[in-house]
Amino acid sequence: MVINSTHKADLKSWVEAANEPMCSFSIQNLPYGVFNSNENLEKRIGVAIGDHVLDLNMIEKAGLLPTPKPAFNKQSLNTFMAMGPKIWSKTRKIISQELSNQASDFRGFSNVLIPLKDINLFMPFMVSDYTDFYASREHATNVGTMFRGADNALMPNWLHMPIGYNGRASTVVVSGTDVKRPRGQIKLPGLDAPVFQPSQKLDIELEMGAVVGTCSDIGSSVSVDQAQEMIFGYVLLNDWSARDIQVWEYQPLGPFLGKAFATTISPWIVTTEALEPFRVYGPSQNPAPLDYLKQAAPHNYDIELEVHLQSTIISKTNYQNMYWSSAQQLAHHSSGGCAMRTGDLLGSGTISGSNPKSMGSLLELTWNGENPIELDDGTTRTFLKDGDTITLSGYAQGDGYRIGFGYSTGSIKPPSSRP
Ligand code: CA
Repeated sequence: MVINSTHKADLKSWVEAANEPMCSFSIQNLPYGVFNSNENLEKRIGVAIGDHVLDLNMIEKAGLLPTPKPAFNKQSLNTFMAMGPKIWSKTRKIISQELSNQASDFRGFSNVLIPLKDINLFMPFMVSDYTDFYASREHATNVGTMFRGADNALMPNWLHMPIGYNGRASTVVVSGTDVKRPRGQIKLPGLDAPVFQPSQKLDIELEMGAVVGTCSDIGSSVSVDQAQEMIFGYVLLNDWSARDIQVWEYQPLGPFLGKAFATTISPWIVTTEALEPFRVYGPSQNPAPLDYLKQAAPHNYDIELEVHLQSTIISKTNYQNMYWSSAQQLAHHSSGGCAMRTGDLLGSGTISGSNPKSMGSLLELTWNGENPIELDDGTTRTFLKDGDTITLSGYAQGDGYRIGFGYSTGSIKPPSSRP
């Protein structure tokens, strides 16, 4: 991807709200989502612009987009994502040109713009496989210290490869979906045997999700630069985690059911191309990665992130300090011949910064429940209570405009009654 006319900071739209400096959905952004409205219940694909969504199905049907076959009358973005970076880029260019051209043909359609307040949003893509990584050095050090002690905090492999595990595509849900407190095996302190009960240490993980657009074949591998080109875009991702289930089950094969009950993503996919001006170098990697993981170009992104518990901001951090980039994660994933598919979702791993208010999980913010945090309403939390609502938000700050991700939100519901 390269910087082009769609990235100009002074570009303005005839959708006036998009020109407000704090608007999430500026004309430089153009994120894709799947929506319907009460007037038209058919699920279809649109682009958020200002306080509206542009109905791409209508535009595509009129022959105004470069897609080689219909891609926007679908219930997921997978068809469009599989078309590859050239089509993504051509489509973005046309949408950008038309939304900034006062005399655009797009203005001739009735109901081509629908207010965001009048739409329902759905899962933006069909998740093929979900893989979750562990790429923040601060997070890995904090969790390792709590689980194994400071001397063994970082495992010997951690600085040599992006550590990950295969998660569940079946439990990835879109923002707004309730999260039921899981039950599981828990080893309580002082008891010799585990019990089966609702988790008492229900937690969040603030992450970004990289959405794989183009695929790679089984038996082949991709370079870091090729991996960068395969990623269609990014979403906010909350990898809900039951710490008391996790700590008992995780050895020796890694997380399993403690992280397999819900993972919430934001409904708009912000494209890799929209984020091009916000690429930055990550921390220097020492020891130097093996050749297949070496990266010369900047593959991290400067994205401001916040976590709200109800209305209280409990964490503020930035995506740019992740030790391993998503391009390195994807290259590593394919390095043994694992086929990567359109719709694969790669969780970055919990994003924690270096100060105590920049941790991406309650486990770290409260140091495994030892230091409760206080909310604006005067109550305190160690882990989540039933009825709690967590909202992730994020944006990249341009010169006078924003590339906003919207929200990833979820509320905790009590566990279902025992089967
Ligand atoms: Ca995670």
